[in-house]
Amino acid sequence: MKPLSYITAFLESLYPNICVMCQSSASSLVCLSCQGECAFVAPATVAVTRTKFLTVHSLFAYHSRFNVLLHAKYYNQRQLLLAQSELFVAYIAQHNLAFDYIAYVPQHWIKSLQRGGNHMRIIAYGCSGGIPVRDVLQKKHPTSAQAGNAMRVRKKNVLGSFTVPLQQKPAVTGKRILLFDDVYTSGATLKECAKELYKSGAAHVIGLTLCRVM
Ligand SMILES: [Zn+2]
Repeated sequence: MKPLSYITAFLESLYPNICVMCQSSASSLVCLSCQGECAFVAPATVAVTRTKFLTVHSLFAYHSRFNVLLHAKYYNQRQLLLAQSELFVAYIAQHNLAFDYIAYVPQHWIKSLQRGGNHMRIIAYGCSGGIPVRDVLQKKHPTSAQAGNAMRVRKKNVLGSFTVPLQQKPAVTGKRILLFDDVYTSGATLKECAKELYKSGAAHVIGLTLCRVM
């Protein structure tokens, strides 16, 4: 067990009485003081094709203190993942995002097996309030981790690595889809997923991530 997992396991045992970022007592996962310190980010719109666009919303500007949340995926710390669902639900409600269902950036099944779960799937299905979730995207082959890669390498790394399985295409056609991911860095992964959704006839795709690297 790595040192971080001891810390997060400890925090998990205390949640929801402690802020995961500053470890002060709090009634929510990220205390109001820390939420105030982390600048909320204006949504970014990027072109997916000549005629299709993707607007990506992010809850917070990236700060290393968020690693406690972001690294929960490596240890499949369910409670910390579900707490992220709460943050997403709060953002969706505050910003009145209009969509038909949530999709998420999938990971390859081998990675899910290694990590004991598909973290973005857990976060998506953890969203309360009866928000529908669909497993419309699939990772075709494993790719190396994006962290540390240059922008050009990131784009090449994920190119052609996602697909909408044939049986899921009717669920995509004409739909407005809210696409979840954890970190927005170059946008290469979200763009690649949105490209596949638009190819399958999605009416509109919006991205939503926990953090954005500024
Ligand atoms: Zn705090």
